[in-house]
Amino acid sequence: MSSHILVLGGTAEARELAAVLAARDGVRVTSSLAGRVTRPGVLDGEVRVGGFGGAEGLASWLREHCADAVVDATHPFAEAITRNAARAAAATGVPLVVLRRPGWRPGPGDRWHPVVSLHAAAELLPRIGRRAFLTTGRLGLAAFAHLADMHFVIRSVEPPEPPVPPDTRVVLARGPFTVAGEKELLTAYRIDVLVTKDSGGAATAAKLSAARELGLPVVVVRRPPLPPELTAVPDVAAVLERLGRAARPTPPDPRGCGAADTCP
Ligand code: NAP
Repeated sequence: MSSHILVLGGTAEARELAAVLAARDGVRVTSSLAGRVTRPGVLDGEVRVGGFGGAEGLASWLREHCADAVVDATHPFAEAITRNAARAAAATGVPLVVLRRPGWRPGPGDRWHPVVSLHAAAELLPRIGRRAFLTTGRLGLAAFAHLADMHFVIRSVEPPEPPVPPDTRVVLARGPFTVAGEKELLTAYRIDVLVTKDSGGAATAAKLSAARELGLPVVVVRRPPLPPELTAVPDVAAVLERLGRAARPTPPDPRGCGAADTCP
């Protein structure tokens, strides 16, 4: 049986999933990227780039391309696309699997300050330190732009767009990072507080170990909740298991898909 799976991507897990699916006989995989990063790297299978035009646009795409399943493997902080995926799946009857890598957990010696948003992080920050290492991504930096009395080191894959805080040094880098490298960076820039989203995953966790070893406080922005009707699986293996269970017999297809002239 052949099947077409749409992977909503932008994460390492989405890339891994696309590679596994593309290697399977009879599986067509299309990865979807928002188009925020100029050099996203090579992906196995087909790739489409750019927004769908909301939940309705995504639903139309699923119908037009005869998708048999959609996997939301987007970043835990990409709220809008996850909401849209839930609505589009409900509207079309196409099964949806949500992949969310587990969040980080504080261990002994960690000095974490959980907050609900970037704005809450900015409000708390001046009470904790003066020299902050900001690893929350290049979007949303406006929340910190008014903090003129603090020094910021901002690390992102691509240059941040204004507004950013006035006293800012930008470090362009893409993970994975090592604990030794992160300690070196924190020490070299005399950082006294780290700010991060709870993105989870191993590739960017080294900064947390480095902060612990240096005794630095960490402001951790909590993840937005998933829409209540959704539950997530934690890894690619669990997605494959869910997809196996969701696989449906080919004809008859209730969406009228399957004919050569309607399905590319
Ligand atoms: P978002 O706020 O949830 O999405 C905003 C809009 O961007 C969506 O409504 C959708 O436009 C479009 N979009 C988002 N992801 C898409 C995808 N994979 N394929 C096609 N369209 C997509 O998302 P975001 O937080 O800006 O993140 C954008 C992308 O970057 C995501 O794919 C995410 O996996 C990746 N990313 C995000 C973060 C983060 O911290 N937010 C970190 C690392 C990577 P339409 O409504 O027009 O369809």
